Amino acid sequence: MNQIVMLDINFQYENEPRTIHPVLLLSANDVVLVDCGYPGFLPLLEAEMKSKGIDPGSLTKVLVTHHDDDHMGALFEIKEKYPDVKVVASSEESGYISGERKSLRLLQAEEMLNVLPKEQKSFGIQFCESLRKVRPVPVDIKVKDGDHFDWGGGCEIVETPGHMPGHISLYLKESNSVITGDAAVIDSGRLVIANPQFTLDLDKAGDSLEKLISLNGDRYYCYHGGILKNPSSKAIPIN
Ligand SMILES: [Zn+2]
Repeated sequence: MNQIVMLDINFQYENEPRTIHPVLLLSANDVVLVDCGYPGFLPLLEAEMKSKGIDPGSLTKVLVTHHDDDHMGALFEIKEKYPDVKVVASSEESGYISGERKSLRLLQAEEMLNVLPKEQKSFGIQFCESLRKVRPVPVDIKVKDGDHFDWGGGCEIVETPGHMPGHISLYLKESNSVITGDAAVIDSGRLVIANPQFTLDLDKAGDSLEKLISLNGDRYYCYHGGILKNPSSKAIPIN
């Protein structure tokens, strides 16, 4: 049985069709969802899991790569419906996911409101409102660089700070694959930094992108963009 299952979550954003790609990692004792979509996305997740032959009730863990709303938004409703599910994240991100610390994205968006041109103000205000709707959830398991689990045939936590300070990615040994989160997205067949304007530390993001590329994965599972196969010849780090 395939131990790595990429989900395709299709939705409308600002009247445009969009797709995000949470990934399921299976092992003897665990069904781990890596990132979970915006608030309200649980029905979409459940439907997509079922269509891939996986019972949503079998979920044991949700790993959150970082605290952006499209990655942790559905966490609260998942915990509400499936209270035994454990939340996994880096120590650095945990304070933001649990609400002990204010979302860095919201802080950034609020600061941007002051400098946004008039015609973009209403979008800025809406964006802040949508970030405030993300409901915090305590983190049960804190992980760090090099931690190893048997999920997906064996995987290792790779710290990839930059997009956010505690961002983590995953290296899957058996299939020589990488789950990038937002540390890398696909652009014209290459791995690049996701939305530089949303990258909190561009220098670190550049180092993290190079770190992921240097893993020489056969497949990169990108939350935004899907699967990139054998990118090594094409991958150019952009700083
Ligand atoms: Zn993000």
